[in-house]
Order: sequence, then structure tokens, then C-alpha cells
Amino acid sequence: MEESPLDRNIQYIKGVGPQRAALLGRLGLNTVSDLLFNLPRDLLDLTRVTPMAAIAEGETCQVRGRVVDLDARPTRKGGTITGVAIEDQGQYVRGIWFNQPWMLSRFKFNDCVLFSGKPKRRAGRWEFGSPHVQWLDPDDGGSQGGVLTRYHLTEGLKMHELRRIMRSVVEEYGHLVPDPLPESFRFPLGLPTLAEAVRLVHLPATVEQFHQGLNRIVHEDLLEFQVGLSLRRRVWQRTASAPVIPLTGKVDARIRRLFPFGFTTGQDRAIAEICHDLAAGRAMHRLLQADVGAGKTVVAIYALLLAVAAGYQGVLMAPTEVLARQHWQTFEQCLQHSRVERVLLTGTLTTVERRAAHEKIRSGQAQLIVGTQALIQKDVGFARLGLVVIDEQHRFGVRQRSHFATDTSATPHTLVMTATPIPRSLALTQFGDLDISPMRELPPGRQPVSTHIVPAGPQRTKAWEFLLRKLASGRQAYLVCPRIDAREGEPPAIPQDAAAQSGNSPDGPLNGSSAEQVFHELRVGILKNHRIGLLHGQLGVEHKQDIMRMFRAGELQALVSTTVIEVGVDVPNASLLVVFDAERFGLAQLHQLRGRVGRGAHQGYCFLFPSVDTPEARTRLEVLVRHTDGFEVAEADFRLRGPGDVLGTRQHGDLPLQSADLLRDAPLLETTREQAQELVRSGRLDTPEYAPLKQRVLARFGELMEISGGG
Ligand code: ADP
Ligand code: MG
Repeated sequence: MEESPLDRNIQYIKGVGPQRAALLGRLGLNTVSDLLFNLPRDLLDLTRVTPMAAIAEGETCQVRGRVVDLDARPTRKGGTITGVAIEDQGQYVRGIWFNQPWMLSRFKFNDCVLFSGKPKRRAGRWEFGSPHVQWLDPDDGGSQGGVLTRYHLTEGLKMHELRRIMRSVVEEYGHLVPDPLPESFRFPLGLPTLAEAVRLVHLPATVEQFHQGLNRIVHEDLLEFQVGLSLRRRVWQRTASAPVIPLTGKVDARIRRLFPFGFTTGQDRAIAEICHDLAAGRAMHRLLQADVGAGKTVVAIYALLLAVAAGYQGVLMAPTEVLARQHWQTFEQCLQHSRVERVLLTGTLTTVERRAAHEKIRSGQAQLIVGTQALIQKDVGFARLGLVVIDEQHRFGVRQRSHFATDTSATPHTLVMTATPIPRSLALTQFGDLDISPMRELPPGRQPVSTHIVPAGPQRTKAWEFLLRKLASGRQAYLVCPRIDAREGEPPAIPQDAAAQSGNSPDGPLNGSSAEQVFHELRVGILKNHRIGLLHGQLGVEHKQDIMRMFRAGELQALVSTTVIEVGVDVPNASLLVVFDAERFGLAQLHQLRGRVGRGAHQGYCFLFPSVDTPEARTRLEVLVRHTDGFEVAEADFRLRGPGDVLGTRQHGDLPLQSADLLRDAPLLETTREQAQELVRSGRLDTPEYAPLKQRVLARFGELMEISGGG
């Protein structure tokens, strides 16, 4: 088969050559197609530039000119005024900035720039106060109007060069871009062809054209992704039978009797949905999405015991050893009078213990199995696996399916539980192939955790005094730090002079962003008469378990820890939480931490100790003071920081999307999800008209989503 011109190496393109090809290679651009889909990072809209002679007082406008004068003057009050004058066709305007002396260094004489803002007439001249500035390339300056695209660059590659390359690639190859979508789909939605869209984003005559093109490309990206997820569902639904797990009134009553409380409406609703799935003979793939402390574990236990009652094995898999053991303990408590055979399987068992566990699982003697990833190792085989519950710490990306080896041909049911609520747009991508059971109600009597931002100084002293009183009355506290030890070469979390105040003063170990340091300072300082423990991920497993056991038993009054306590730890008597350097944490993470307190009968308190008191830090932390609902916190965090950070990872690349931005394109995500489901459900995806789309989806996601057959 002849190579498509779109796959051609770019060094053979007019105006590229081996040297520039190497530079473009650094940007990940190797083929013609890479270039065509290398979208501009922003635009310069020169269609709206106002000639300096036509400026009007107080009306927002944009002017273009060359830098002809730079100056910085002190003000009478001890600040500075920075002024930058630009010239165009014999006319001048000035941009001024107060107390931003660094602005001066951003300009050079002869720079060609755009100022946007509201001009004022001052001393016979037009002045822009803190205008928005865009720098133009020397050759942008010469161009007369139009919309200029701007791309990511690398050293040695100039904007105008890349723009020229893009123009010639689009003109020579753009029309060859195939369109996976048939006209019957595009036309009613007013979508241009993909080839047109590529032209519009790279060579737009107006800003609107650019957006029209971009929208089409993003639509394609998201639709293909959602079709992939829908196909994945279909593969699951079509695979051989799943265990039929019926619900009887007797079993229901027997399970409910195990709990000292009645279920919340949210729990009852989720349980009903799960029971419906379990009895249907098709493998369940459901996500239980709930706020911290909503009682997901109860739902999991109910479903697992139902599977056991029907003669199947039930598995609960947790992301960490600490959590697996905690779930284990919950089971032990719940089932102390029950004969259900239980097995714990984690990575830290001795060889002998592990062999014994494997044997019980393989023979079917084990009915209820709790563990970590150790459960999906190759040498673990299940006799009659009926239901798998996965308590998930989310990573960013498309979830890989966990493969549980089972002898029978039936596919086990799967229930996924997220550790924290996530924004809907993330749920639709990460979990887009699952049915979702949201659970928003909290168990009765839960008071919202009283949350406070406590800057250093007298307020912090008061917070410590409060904490000491609560400890004296029998409560317990978590003291969370962003890291384990003070790493060498890192600046202190707060300036030295503030650090010097630490020691035995009630302001205490405020320089402590490290758990070890905070622990040691508290032990000789504020909490010297208390029993306190230290918990972090680098301690040995047994040591960690000891500490957790002692804390749970109330033998420790305070626990200094890293975020190892973040997910799922449940100690009802712990009602106090202090977070050091709170601004360093993601909001979703802080909310998760906050979920550790106020779980029992006692009012929960959360004190956020920021190490700096900047407006940005405050804006973010105030979200937590204002919202107690985890879904709202997650949405706010998402809006403030973007998807990668919400999930505690800075790598956005794990989600296999090419141009879509989950924040910007959230509405399109919903639309394309419905479109994809419709295409798959109606069978239209399997018609010749949609063969190109289906092929493209399989090529992109076949392996990743395990849908290579296409269902
Ligand atoms: P999460 O959803 O965060 O995993 P858990 O399952 O750990 O929450 O439950 C949090 C706490 O709430 C536990 O101590 C649990 O016993 C309690 N709980 C769960 N459901 C109820 C209920 N219906 N009524 C009262 N308490 C409940
Ligand atoms: Mg939990």
C-alpha cells in the first residue's frame, strides 16, 4: 500500500529541510499530519487594531506600535512608575505600570507590541494604565491586519518561519485530510469538514473562523474518544454470561442486621441499582461516586455479601495496604458472628501466608477476599468470582481494566468506587464507560466540618489553644504536612525570621512543612505532654500498622502525618485536622483530608495553616471554607487549576485527547457522549457510512481500551 502523503516526513516539505525538521521534531512534529494538527496556541487579532489617531477616551481598544521610549521613575510615596512609549506613523501612546519595576525588563527598544486597554488622555497624550501587552514578531509588525496564528516554538525556530511552513503545508496537504464523519452527520450540526477545519485554524481570516475550525477538530477528538468508550461498554455487555446474583428479602434482612444503623437514601438507591445489575445476567460495570464519608463501604459490603450468599466469591481491592487492612478490619467487625470465610491478600504477607491465601482463593474456600493489587498477580486464580469491588485512588487517564483470573467463563461484576468526588467532565472521560450511581447524601447527624484559614500570628496561637482543649477533652487530631523530611537544598517553607519564632512558643513548628520536623518540634514543644505519633509512607509496613492501630485505639492523641491518611482512613474519635502549608495541596485533596474528621458524633474542625498569605492562596482555600460538598469543591478546584492538578498529577498527557480541553470543552463532552452512545446503540456505527469513523477509533483506542474487535 502506498504511504499516505499525510504520513510523509516533514523534511521533504517545501521550506523545511533536515535542519528545521530536526527542530520541529523537538516539538513532537514529524509528519505532515502532525503539522496539520499542531494547533495554534493563540491568536493575534490585528483586524481590530485601532489607528492611534482614532483612539477615543475610555473605550477599550487595541493599538500597535514600536517601542521608542522606556523609563522608570520613583513616586513620592516610594513606589515606581514604569512607562513604555510606542509609536506608529508619527503618533505616540504610553503604557504605564505602578509598582511593577520588572515590566521595564520585558521591553526592548524597537519591539513591536500591541497594547489593549482603556486609554486616558493625560498631558496631551494617550495613556494606557496596565495595558494587556502582546509582542509581535518583527514580521507581524509589517503585516497589515488579519488574524495571526501563534504556535509553540523551540529555540532556533522563529514564529514567522513556522507560520510560513504551516501555510505551505496547509495549502499543499490540507485538502487531503480525510473526514471520518459522513455528511449526514456533519450537515445538521453545521460542522465543516475536517479538511476545512484544518484550514480555518491555521489560516483564519477572522477570529470566528478560527473558533469554527477549532470546534470541529475538538468535536472530532472527543467524539472518537467517546465512541471508543461506548464500544468498550458494548464489548463488556456482549461478552459471555455473568453470574446471576438474585436478591431475596431474607438475604436483604440478614445483611442489614449486620449494621448498627439504617442506610441513607443514597445508600439504598445505590444498592437498588447494583442489585438490579447483579440479577440481570450481564456483567455490571458501575461507578459509585460519593462524597467523602458518604458510606461507600457499606454499599460495597452489602453487594459483596449478596454475591457470597449466591455462592460466589466477592473481592474488595484497595489502592494501598493501609486501606486494605482497614477494610479488612471493617469486615471483621461486621462479620464477627458470621461464618463467611475471609482472606486478606496483600503484598506484605510472608511466603507461607501468601501460599495459604492463594490456595483458599483457588479452592473456593475463601468467600470474601480483601486485598491490594496483589490480587491481580498472575499466580492468583479464583474459583467462582462473582463480584469485584475496586476502591480506587484515581490516576488521570483512561482506567485500565483489572484482570482477575477466574476459572469459569462468566465475567465477574465490577463496582468501582472513587476515593473523592470528581468533576463531571472528568467522570465522563475517566469513567465514561461505566454506569454512574451518584450518592450525595451523608449519614444523618454529620455536621459539616468547621473550616478555618489560620494565618501565622495570634490567630494561630488561638488555634493551638483550641486544639489543646479538645485533646484534653478526649478528642484526637491529625496534623498533616506536605512532605516527609526537609530535603536538602530546598528553601525553608517560610522565611527564616518567622522560623526563628518557633520552638516552645505556641506558634510552634510553623517552619515545618516536613512531617519529621513537625513531629520532633511538637514533641518537645506544644504537645510535649501528649502522646503523639508519626506516620508516613517511608516507614515499614508493620510500623505503620502499629501506629494506625494505636491511633485507632486512642493510645495516640495526635498523629503527625503526610497525606498517607488522605484516602479512606476512618477513626470516628478524631475530630481535629491541622494542615501545614495548606496552600501546597490541591483542594480536592484538602477536602479528602477534611473528610477524615467529623466522622463520629463530635463536631469536626479543620485548620488550614498557609505558609504564605497571598490572595491566590486565599481564594483557593476559601473555596473549602465556603463549600462542604465535595462535588462543589471538585468543580471549583477544576476551574481554578485545570484537570491535571485536580487529580494530583501535573501530567495532563495521560488522557489520550489531542486537542480537547476538559475545562473549556466540557459542554461538548456531554454532547459527543450522547452522540457516541446513539451511534453505537442504534447500530449506525456498524454501517458502511461510519466505517471510516469506526476504523479511526479502533486505530486510536483499540489497544488502550481493549476493544480491538470493535464489539
Ligand atoms: P466513604 O464513602 O468515605 O468510604 P465510609 O464508608 O468510610 O465512607 O463511611 C464513613 C463512616 O460513616 C463510617 O464510620 C461508617 O460506619 C459510617 N456510616 C456509613 N453509613 C452510615 C449510615 N447509613 N448511618 C450512619 N453511619 C454510617
Ligand atoms: Mg472509603
